[in-house]
Amino acid sequence: MRSGELLALDRAHVWHPYGPMPGRTDPLVVASAAGVRLRLAEPAEGRDELIDGMSSWWSAIHGYNHPVLNEAARGQLDRMSHVMFGGLTHEPAVRLAAKLVEITPEPLQHVFLSDSGSVAVEVAAKMCLQYWRSVGRPAKQRLLTWRGGYHGDTWTPMSVCDPDGGMHELWSGVLTRQVFVGPPPVEYEESYAEQLREAIGRHADELAAVIVEPVVQGAGGMRFHTPEYLRVLREACDEHGVLLVFDEIATGFGRTGTLFAADAAGVSPDVMCVGKALTGGYLSMAATLCSSEVADGISRGEVPVLAHGPTFMGNPLAAAVACASIDLLLAQDWQHEVKRIEAGLREGLAAAESLPGVREVRVQGAIGVVQLDHDVDMAAATTAAVREGVWLRPFRDLIYTMPPFVTTDEDVARICAAVRAAAAAG
Ligand code: PMP
Repeated sequence: MRSGELLALDRAHVWHPYGPMPGRTDPLVVASAAGVRLRLAEPAEGRDELIDGMSSWWSAIHGYNHPVLNEAARGQLDRMSHVMFGGLTHEPAVRLAAKLVEITPEPLQHVFLSDSGSVAVEVAAKMCLQYWRSVGRPAKQRLLTWRGGYHGDTWTPMSVCDPDGGMHELWSGVLTRQVFVGPPPVEYEESYAEQLREAIGRHADELAAVIVEPVVQGAGGMRFHTPEYLRVLREACDEHGVLLVFDEIATGFGRTGTLFAADAAGVSPDVMCVGKALTGGYLSMAATLCSSEVADGISRGEVPVLAHGPTFMGNPLAAAVACASIDLLLAQDWQHEVKRIEAGLREGLAAAESLPGVREVRVQGAIGVVQLDHDVDMAAATTAAVREGVWLRPFRDLIYTMPPFVTTDEDVARICAAVRAAAAAG
C-alpha cells in the first residue's frame, strides 16, 4: 500500500496513544527497522531513516531486527505461537519465570506473566489487596505512592498516577482515592524521609501497599531521586505491616545503570513489576513477581486463588524472545554500554543547559532529559529532531531520550544534537 493511502486509512480509523479521533495526528509511516534505525516509507524533513532515541518507549534495548531475537521468535513460531495457560504449561514460560526469579531480589519467587505493564500493575495491586483479605486484615485496601509517578493507563494504575494535574486528572473524581505523599527530592532529605514514615504509619491500618517507581519516575515527569528513599520505604513498610511494590517496568533490565533500579539500594520489594524491555521490545509481555509470603497468604484465604487469567498469559512467543533478550543482555558487558551512553549523553546534553528556555538537564544511566521552563511545542520539537535524523517524542515540558544500549557514540552524539535542536525549537 502506498503511504499516502495508508495515512488516509490511518486518519480515518486508527487511534494512537493519547490521540484524538478522527485523524488529527500525523504519524510518520515506518516501513522497517534495523539496529537503532527506523526506516521511513516516505522521507520526512529530507530523512528516510531516523535514529530511535526512544527505544520504542524504553523497550528496544538491543535495537531492532536483532538476529538472536529474530531466531528465538522464528524457532518458537515453528513449535507453537500460543496456547492457553489454564491447565497447560510450556518450556518458554517456565524458563522465563525461573530466569526472572534468578535475576531479581531473593524474596521474589513467584511470577505472573501478563501482557502489558498496566496489567502487571493491576495484578500487583490485586495480589496485595487479596493478601490482606486472606490473612484477615480486609481493611487494608488502599495504596500509597509519591506524586509525579506513572504506572499505566488502566484503572488501578491511573489511581496511583498523580491525580492533580497529571495525565489522568480527567478521572480523578471517580478513581479509587489513594494516599499521596509529595514527589521525592533528588537528594536525600531527612524531612522528606520523615514525611514518608509518618504517612505510612498514619495510614497503616488501611494501606495494603506502597507502590513506587524506584530511582526514576518516568512518564510522570522524568525525575530522578536517590535510592536511599527505597531503604526508608522498606523500613517503614516493615515497621507498619505494609507491602512494598516496585514498578520496574521502565527502569528494569539495566536502563539506570544497575540491572534493576532498586539494586542500587540493595532493597527487596514484596512485589515487583517488569515489562517493556523484558522482550527487548519485540512482543507484548510483562510480569508481576511476588514473595512466597504474599503467595502463601493468598493461598490461605477464603478464596485461595488469584482471580486473574488473561487469554495471552504466558504467551510462548513472547516468553521465548524474553528469555533470549535476557540472555543476550547478561552475556555482554551491558554496564559498560550503559555507562558509555551515560557519558555520551552528559557530554552532548551539557550544551543544552545554556539554551534559552531550558530549566534543567539531567542524566541517569542511559536516560537523558532536558526540562524546559514552558510546555514544549510538540510538533515543532519533533520536526526539529527529525530534521536532525532522530526520532524523539517530547511531552509536557520535557525533551528526553533513552536510546537502545547498542547505540554507537556517534549516534548518541547525533541524538544529543537533536535533543538540543528540539529544545531550541520547542
Ligand atoms: N509502569 C511504568 C513505570 C511505565 O513506564 C509504564 C509504561 N510507560 C507502565 C507502567 C505501563 O506499561 P504499559 O504501557 O505496557 O501498559
